Amino acid sequence: MLKVEQLVKHFDGVKAVDGVSFDVLPGQCVALIGPNGAGKSTCFACIAGQYALTGGHVSWNGQALDKLPPAARLRHGVARTFQVAQVFEALTVLQNVQLAVQASRGPKAISAFKTLDSQSIDTALALLAQTGLEALAHDDVASLPYGAKKRLELALALAASPTLLLLDEPAAGLAEAERASLMQLVKKLAAQGMAVLYTEHNMDAVVGVADRVLVLIEGRLAAQGSFEAIARDPTVQRLYLGEGEGAAHA
Ligand code: ADP
Ligand code: MG
Repeated sequence: MLKVEQLVKHFDGVKAVDGVSFDVLPGQCVALIGPNGAGKSTCFACIAGQYALTGGHVSWNGQALDKLPPAARLRHGVARTFQVAQVFEALTVLQNVQLAVQASRGPKAISAFKTLDSQSIDTALALLAQTGLEALAHDDVASLPYGAKKRLELALALAASPTLLLLDEPAAGLAEAERASLMQLVKKLAAQGMAVLYTEHNMDAVVGVADRVLVLIEGRLAAQGSFEAIARDPTVQRLYLGEGEGAAHA
């Protein structure tokens, strides 16, 4: 399981994350929510490996992660979504996923670029089917609609066959129907056995998707539990759901 113990991340005087502890088990889909500036992305980046911790511990299946760079975390089955900027715009959707499949097999595999088309095609096609991108396989990434790019990010993360999947606002910027369909895909990945932790600002990506919700407010967990339970929590209502600007929208 993912074990986050007393996670602390300070930036100079700013206590972005200030003592956060929680677990995520394989098969669980857990949402980390909270208002803007709550520390969600910082917490996420500490788990994924982009930030060194100020304090605390992060481990996956008993393996300490906090001193490992992201690439080493990937070898332990921990993947995060790539930023859209990290896809190769001049290549097709299929080629991007093939490249990610080969990269996940180590640095030698990626130097075998010339054999890209034959080596990893089956795995890549399966990933495109899984993420609903089959029909776009031969389109250039540069011409993809935004929603398809978000799916491609997911396909690229899945190329490494992760056991723990970390997603920072996976459906951000998508229209409602597209958000719902992408979040159902995320839920399905967890149902198939992956541990999934995602951050989210809006409630609509939490209801009916997350098995458990962690509410982060000012760097601390204000509540955790089912959506119904956290929605009833007086502190969450006062500081998050009930607020005006920055409030979660259904
Ligand atoms: P969220 O993702 O919940 O909106 P963040 O984790 O981005 O929140 O930010 C939490 C707090 O930490 C904010 O006050 C933000 O200004 C601060 N912060 C985040 N990243 C940095 C950084 N790299 N340097 C300094 N302060 C930061
Ligand atoms: Mg954020």
